[in-house]
Amino acid sequence: MKPLQIGRMKVHKIFEMESPVPLLMQLPGVTAEDLVRLHEWYAAPDEITEDPETCHMTFSVHSWVIELDGLTILIDSCDGNHKNRSIEAVHQLDTRYLENLRAAGFAPEDIDMVMCTHLHFDHIGWNTRLENGKWVPTFPRARYIFGRRDYDYFKENPAGEEFHYEAFLDSIVPVMEAGLGEIVEENFVAHREVGNGVWLEPAFGHSPGCCMVGAQADGPEAIFWGDVIHHPVQLIRHDLPFAFDDDPAAAQLVRKATLERAADGELMCFPAHFRKTSAGQVKRDGNHFRYEFVTG
Ligand SMILES: [Zn+2]
Repeated sequence: MKPLQIGRMKVHKIFEMESPVPLLMQLPGVTAEDLVRLHEWYAAPDEITEDPETCHMTFSVHSWVIELDGLTILIDSCDGNHKNRSIEAVHQLDTRYLENLRAAGFAPEDIDMVMCTHLHFDHIGWNTRLENGKWVPTFPRARYIFGRRDYDYFKENPAGEEFHYEAFLDSIVPVMEAGLGEIVEENFVAHREVGNGVWLEPAFGHSPGCCMVGAQADGPEAIFWGDVIHHPVQLIRHDLPFAFDDDPAAAQLVRKATLERAADGELMCFPAHFRKTSAGQVKRDGNHFRYEFVTG
């Protein structure tokens, strides 16, 4: 995706990887009719078949970088390289993420702030990198912002969350030990003020302290919705529980409210896991929604 200029801010996408997973494993309940409807505006022949049983959904994993008023803010830091993970698809990755960051014009030292929408392993991994056998902060000048609820939850190694806890140990703890981490409330304002700056918004459900990042600067409002919505098919089936939501009922309410707000407010949307250009706008489509990706 080409960088997008939105008022005073410029937004870049930094790609890490894509990974396909069986659709019904993530979203049990999607029907062939839903997929036909999705096909009307989401062309992904390598991904979406019309048979839910064989259909995969492919997640992109990427960061967003906001440039605003001389600040450079990185949102969600993907999986990271060389990390031991109990999930095979992300174990010992060796991706070109840092090269992609540089190609967008940024060295790790250029990042002033890292904001994690939530503390799942695929949103915190590049917080650290391996140096002489030790995990050190990848972005040595950055303030790293972590929401309090997720921090307090994952630091206790909660049952059933082992693959997030292993990421907490190598991607959050070293940042805190280096003195670069800051635990904040989920309505934290990162720059200036709500409506003219960058801020966190609570979006609890997918994880206990899951947030979105809002941003606006003399232009349309932008929403970096993290994992509130994972895949375009959820614009048609926002009612279905996502397999890895911590509180599925709360997550569903947040998903629906976010789609309504994005459509009615004509927000610029920056999903954490949509493929293609990822960024776009939500439109109402009868009782459902659809998504218009930005071009380029
Ligand atoms: Zn995610």
